[in-house]
Amino acid sequence: MRTVYASISMNKPSPYPGKLTPFGELSLIKQIRRDFASTGKAVKLGIGDDCAILRPPSGCEVLVTTDFTLEGRHFRRDTHPPESVGHRCLARGLSDLAAMGATPLAAFLSLALPASLLSTSAGRAWTARFFNGLRALAELHSVSLAGGDTSESPGGRNALLLADIVLVGSAPKGKALRRAGASPGEVLYISGRLGGASAELASMLKRKKLTLRINSTADHPQMFPEPRLDVGEALLRRSLATAALDLSDGLSTDLAHLCQASKVSAEIEQEALPFHPLAAKLDAPSALHAALHGGEDYELLFAAPTSVKMPSSLAGVPITRIGMLKPQRKGQPLMKLIALNGSTTELKAGGWEHFISSPAPPRKRPR
Ligand SMILES: [Mg+2]
Repeated sequence: MRTVYASISMNKPSPYPGKLTPFGELSLIKQIRRDFASTGKAVKLGIGDDCAILRPPSGCEVLVTTDFTLEGRHFRRDTHPPESVGHRCLARGLSDLAAMGATPLAAFLSLALPASLLSTSAGRAWTARFFNGLRALAELHSVSLAGGDTSESPGGRNALLLADIVLVGSAPKGKALRRAGASPGEVLYISGRLGGASAELASMLKRKKLTLRINSTADHPQMFPEPRLDVGEALLRRSLATAALDLSDGLSTDLAHLCQASKVSAEIEQEALPFHPLAAKLDAPSALHAALHGGEDYELLFAAPTSVKMPSSLAGVPITRIGMLKPQRKGQPLMKLIALNGSTTELKAGGWEHFISSPAPPRKRPR
């Protein structure tokens, strides 16, 4: 796993606070323009005009995805460090591009900030660290922030931070990986390990106050998920997959999307599921629950014909065969789980609801 924040520790003062007086919305925009001034060759015109101008490579189609990052739903300011919130905001969009084998061209961020995050020094520090997190991941993947909008979030003292990120990417014409395209008889694979993000979130919510120092993002699948852009690009370039999507809501929920789009059913082998080390530390039922239903792992789930010789890793990320696709039959479950003892049970979509406003135990036990 790569390290994004080798030099950022959570308690290290940000380079920004104090520089700007008053910070305010206009100052923030100026700061963003300075920090995100460099544009790659995909962006002809970035922040500063009415529109950005992008230059997609010739022979490519343009892919667009948009994702909310809402305080209380996707993160909490008392559990997630600001770098993590910025990182996750961008990672969610990048992961959608990865799922289709696309290469990022540019990002656009619309941000509604509570007044306190613009006017108080603690708030300004939080905001600066949010952008540190977003920028570190953007630089890692050479993505330019080419535009967006900022506004004060309504609601006075109860205002929440609301962010919407738009990612634009490109893929060779007709080649983008879709959810539809898989067939019965094909093999199901996933990249990386499962259950780490929800296992880490559970431990974050147990802690009263975050005292953790982060010197590396590698062991923090919840706070710093790694969008699998290199894996997706390799799948597309080497024509290894017939269908793919990213695991944002949990394997059971996202697999159901693939089955519905491809008009197939699926059998998952429990024995084959690769648990993230943080999930493997849990008791066996909780670990299985995290792997099947825990969301936000941002790994790729994809299908390939048995004739494809799948490498054991792509771009340094392990690839694991987890099951098979079957024909859809009326009255039969869409998804089945083959347990360790060989018994087969229905697997129901029980994915993560991104929640967070009130910590709750797992909603459902695996069936
Ligand atoms: Mg997705």
